[in-house]
Amino acid sequence: MSRLVEEREKLASLSPGGRPDRPIEVDSAAVVEVRVRALRCPQCEGEYRLEDHEAPGGGIRKVSVICRLCQVRRALWFRLGSLAPN
Ligand SMILES: [Zn+2]
Repeated sequence: MSRLVEEREKLASLSPGGRPDRPIEVDSAAVVEVRVRALRCPQCEGEYRLEDHEAPGGGIRKVSVICRLCQVRRALWFRLGSLAPN
């Protein structure tokens, strides 16, 4: 990876949803997909395609995505709000 790519990946991991301890807060699981569609790849501003959806517990949702343009894979983290059953 080039230095620029590395820097951007580092930035992505620091932004909300980039790490399990920095999840994006959502009201319900139904919103997760909407939020993913609104996000853009930090490398190329491309849209994400949803690949996989995991619920490891504690209201956490791990969404595996792949960029439609540069094909970078990345995991996005969400936490369901307190109103959600779980
Ligand atoms: Zn991309």
